[in-house]
Amino acid sequence: MKLSLYPYQLQFKFPFRIAHGVRTHTDVVYLKLEHQGYTGWGEATLPPYLPETQTSVIEFLTEFSKDVLFNSIDDWFGELQPVNTNLSAKAALDMALWSLKSQIENKTIGELLGIEKKEFPIGTYTIGVSSLDEMETKIDEANKAEFNIFKIKLNGENDEEVVRHFRSLSDKPFAVDVNQGWNDWEEARNKIQWLNEEKCLLVEQPLPKKNNKEMSLVKRDCPLPIYADESCQRISDIEHLRDSFDGINIKLMKCGGITEAHQMILEARKWDMKVLIGCMSESSVGCTAAAQLTPLADYADLDGPYLISNDPFSGMKIQEGRVVLNPLVQVGKV
Ligand code: MG
Repeated sequence: MKLSLYPYQLQFKFPFRIAHGVRTHTDVVYLKLEHQGYTGWGEATLPPYLPETQTSVIEFLTEFSKDVLFNSIDDWFGELQPVNTNLSAKAALDMALWSLKSQIENKTIGELLGIEKKEFPIGTYTIGVSSLDEMETKIDEANKAEFNIFKIKLNGENDEEVVRHFRSLSDKPFAVDVNQGWNDWEEARNKIQWLNEEKCLLVEQPLPKKNNKEMSLVKRDCPLPIYADESCQRISDIEHLRDSFDGINIKLMKCGGITEAHQMILEARKWDMKVLIGCMSESSVGCTAAAQLTPLADYADLDGPYLISNDPFSGMKIQEGRVVLNPLVQVGKV
């Protein structure tokens, strides 16, 4: 088994603004795992609000791969699963292992996980907090890429203006992601009542994650499904969220890869919660890995490849609004 690491910088087509900052690029580390003539790719995506960096990912994976004594994929999985730190690095290795296993056993990752459902969900296209002119350009991009649902980022400042402007440009369905940007449950309740009248589909993370208890008051009165994102990182969080949220946003970079993400979906369903598979603006490597799980999800927020101008890979796509699981192909240098 040979492991190689490639630091890389993904450039956004448009500056990406959310409630807590703006960025023009994302640092990533690509991981290439070669075994028995097969190649599996992984990606650690490192937005600035995560604690990991390219240096920490490279150090962790270099050290980890030195310590794995055996050489089979199952041995590597066995060593990796108890890891509870460096979750983006873990996710990169986990997805590369699943890719190798799938190629060696000549089955899809979905088949290996026993996913019987074959239908893929609708994909959402994220519009970061934008000037009103920028929004029009982004909507055009999304329409060209066959997205049929938008996820609009709100930050609590001019939310009604943003939604009204969106509505003046598109009549497609929309969700909102507040990224913890509202102050309290009364603000959340009032805004959600209004969003419901505007036919919003769902609301993601309205309040700061420390306010999970207060969220139960929002959920109690709320006519729209509310999804946890920042409040839900790992499988152990889910049980504590069921009184406060209707669904969860699962991301490979938060939970450490396909293995735990799959377990999280099963756990969420046990509590009758909805599931959205999201991303941290990964390129095609990370989004194609996450897409493997989407037949089990209600929505897929895997628009990363569409927001990036220098994606060195091609893989999952959106066609007629739904996720399509194309194989991953390298198309540029890393
Ligand atoms: Mg979110």
